[in-house]
Amino acid sequence: MALKPISKIAAGVQASTTLAIDSLFKQMKAEGKDVVGFGAGEPDFPTPEHIKQAGIEAIENNQTKYTPAAGLMDLRKAACYRLKEDCGLDYEPTQIVVASGAKHSVYIALMTLCNPGDEVVIAAPYWVSYSEMVKQAGAIPVIVAATEEAHFKITAEQLDAAITDKTKVFMLNSPSNPTGMVYTKAELEAIAEVCCRHNIYVIADEIYCNLVYDNNEFVSFASLGEDVKERTILVNGVSKSYAMTGWRIGYSASNPQLAKVMANYLSHSTSAPSTISQQAAITALTGPQEDMQVMKQAFEQRRDHLVERMNQIEGVSCIKPEGAFYVMMNMKGFLGKTMYGKVIESAEDFAQLFLEKGLVATVPCTAFAAPGFIRWSYATSLTEIDKGLDRLEAFIKNA
Ligand code: PMP
Repeated sequence: MALKPISKIAAGVQASTTLAIDSLFKQMKAEGKDVVGFGAGEPDFPTPEHIKQAGIEAIENNQTKYTPAAGLMDLRKAACYRLKEDCGLDYEPTQIVVASGAKHSVYIALMTLCNPGDEVVIAAPYWVSYSEMVKQAGAIPVIVAATEEAHFKITAEQLDAAITDKTKVFMLNSPSNPTGMVYTKAELEAIAEVCCRHNIYVIADEIYCNLVYDNNEFVSFASLGEDVKERTILVNGVSKSYAMTGWRIGYSASNPQLAKVMANYLSHSTSAPSTISQQAAITALTGPQEDMQVMKQAFEQRRDHLVERMNQIEGVSCIKPEGAFYVMMNMKGFLGKTMYGKVIESAEDFAQLFLEKGLVATVPCTAFAAPGFIRWSYATSLTEIDKGLDRLEAFIKNA
């Protein structure tokens, strides 16, 4: 007998489109091929020593039991301390909800805010998980796209035009994955005015807040006024700032009512994340911040080098991102052209061929609502960056 159909919502969630390239990359690596990877969305640095030690000590001190669903009170206090230091924001520990990574914080925020049929406006190019998480919440993603000419940032007018009476949430991510772009204070203020006027919530994913270059200032969305703060669920975490992607600690800061509902939601799903990771995260947030500064300087140097060299290569170009660790390579000049006997119809075709023939893995951005662009993550050494760019040059020349 045929089994009954599964959940329509679950069935509607897309598999990651970047997975095909990633699995080919891993397969080639396993076969011993000398492939270079620019796909990773995580710092290549190890977790700083003092943070690792805090994890080890947590195990040795038997801090290995359940914690409250919203996280250890000391971690919630540590998040408040960091938000005050980095963003000038005042939150009470009860407004902080710890989750298993910032991704999970975004997920429970959407689950908390959305009813079936609500619309969620997403500024694009966007991190590929947003639209799928919106769908998992039964809501409808509404994509508002920014062009390269607009530095991949949407305007307040664009947002205004996309809002309907069904709009519940606006998803903001600055500095951005995949573009690396950072909204200025004036741009954020204009966006905030629209959100307040239409009475919509904002999920502000600020996971890359510490990776802003050229001495530019990071502006947290919630810092723009009490009305803005009240309607914002700020999402942050330790993954990117402290090279702790595998520890799985993220957190949100929101008004107390929302925080309570999110904690309830967690208490019946994952509960709190690993106690050991929570202890390490306390040390990350309250301990010395020098390691992060060293990583940031390295990222900035890599960005400068990658952007300069990429723009010297015939046929491709990129604009200079101000934050995170991604560069968007414009490959539109190759669309419709034949390379290695194959007509290039999309960024996927180019990226696939670049991996097969050029032995370099990158991320095509069609699924990020940026057709014609390929994301390079520079969370890798300068030597690898040069190797990748040498190969790009040869790949184009020999096509
Ligand atoms: N938000 C954005 C924009 C990201 O790029 C990522 C990581 N790729 C996350 C959230 C998730 O971070 P975490 O590892 O803390 O879940």
